[in-house]
Amino acid sequence: MLRENTTAVDPSDQTCRLSWREVNLESVAHNVKLLAARCAPAQLMVVVKADAYSHGAVAVARTALGSGATRLGVATLDEAFELRRHDITAPVLAWLAAPESPYADAIRFDIEVAAHSIAQLERIAQAARRAGSPATVHLKAETGMWRGGAAGEWSQLTSLARQREEDGLLRVVGVWSHLACADTPDDPANDAQLESFTSAVRVALDVGLRPRLRHLANSAATLSRPDMHFDMVRCGLAVYGVDPFEQQGRAPSLRQAMTVRAVVTQVKDAPVGTGVCYSHTYRTRSNTKLAIVPIGYADGVPVIAGTARPVGYRGTPVLVAGRVCMDQLVLDVGELPMMPGDEVTIFGPGDDGEHTAAKWAELTGLSTYAMLTGFARRRVPIQFTRDPAAPAGAVRGPLRP
Ligand SMILES: *Cc1c(COP(=O)(O)O)cnc(C)c1O
Repeated sequence: MLRENTTAVDPSDQTCRLSWREVNLESVAHNVKLLAARCAPAQLMVVVKADAYSHGAVAVARTALGSGATRLGVATLDEAFELRRHDITAPVLAWLAAPESPYADAIRFDIEVAAHSIAQLERIAQAARRAGSPATVHLKAETGMWRGGAAGEWSQLTSLARQREEDGLLRVVGVWSHLACADTPDDPANDAQLESFTSAVRVALDVGLRPRLRHLANSAATLSRPDMHFDMVRCGLAVYGVDPFEQQGRAPSLRQAMTVRAVVTQVKDAPVGTGVCYSHTYRTRSNTKLAIVPIGYADGVPVIAGTARPVGYRGTPVLVAGRVCMDQLVLDVGELPMMPGDEVTIFGPGDDGEHTAAKWAELTGLSTYAMLTGFARRRVPIQFTRDPAAPAGAVRGPLRP
């Protein structure tokens, strides 16, 4: 009979390790040193958005700052606040914000913000007036990515920024933009963006701005275009050891930092011709053994064709039998001596026979970025809502979980 323990146990403290991500911070340090050497004398900003591409933002930030990075980049203010809560004091730039974003808090916690439009710059200036201290701003120019960035209003934006500097509300430390095609170095869009960026910088200088940090390059441009380094580069993917040029071998000494492993829960004999998993998309071709592995697409393993051998076991690639399920997948292990409790490697640098980020991307058609972030999707918070026509007495407004 089960008896309850007399001491209080918090069930959330109980871990049951079925699958996990291993992040090798030495590999991160190695990659950061390599990138810092490549971009010198430009500064290296390490991009730790989306929880450092699922590697753990705080740990990666600390490692990067100890290995030659001088600055950190994130997408959202929440991501920047997380770094500050963990006493990371290095300069942080957050480049995504909505009109009602808490710019005053950004100023209070010394977080640098990006301005993409006149309306946004004015909101930042208003927050600075309320906060009683100036905001630190990077002005973003549209140069050909057509995502964020000021297009037609660039020259007005720069003059206004200069005026707000004189009002004591802003300091413009950066002028920047982002490349659309850096992972195909021969694409003429790269040179076009470079030219457009150079003229945007000239416009900023002409109105009297003196940005110390002109920045354009991501990992791919850092590795392939020294003429795009300017004062700083912003690297994400290469920090995590993934070559932006995939199999082109331009940066062979990067080390993939993330390994995803799982423990085998069951191994059983299956006769020839057995249909495995939903819809029986796979049938055993001989009498064999099947191993059950408790990791699935809800954990970030993509659903793949049933003929691939992406999983590693003691140096041998193993076939995934049938569809990857929500929380589980099945391996056809043949003669391998696999036992319950053994570890298999789902994703990693390849040492155990598993597919790397590049090979998974090739297999699935996903990008290497999506493969990494898939292993811990960024949380989109839940908010329960009700039909506005609900009967009287219903709770008004959103219901929180
Ligand atoms: C994500 C991101 C980067 C980093 O790009 P990588 O290709 O991962 O090096 C740089 N700048 C901006 C604006 C980004 O959103």
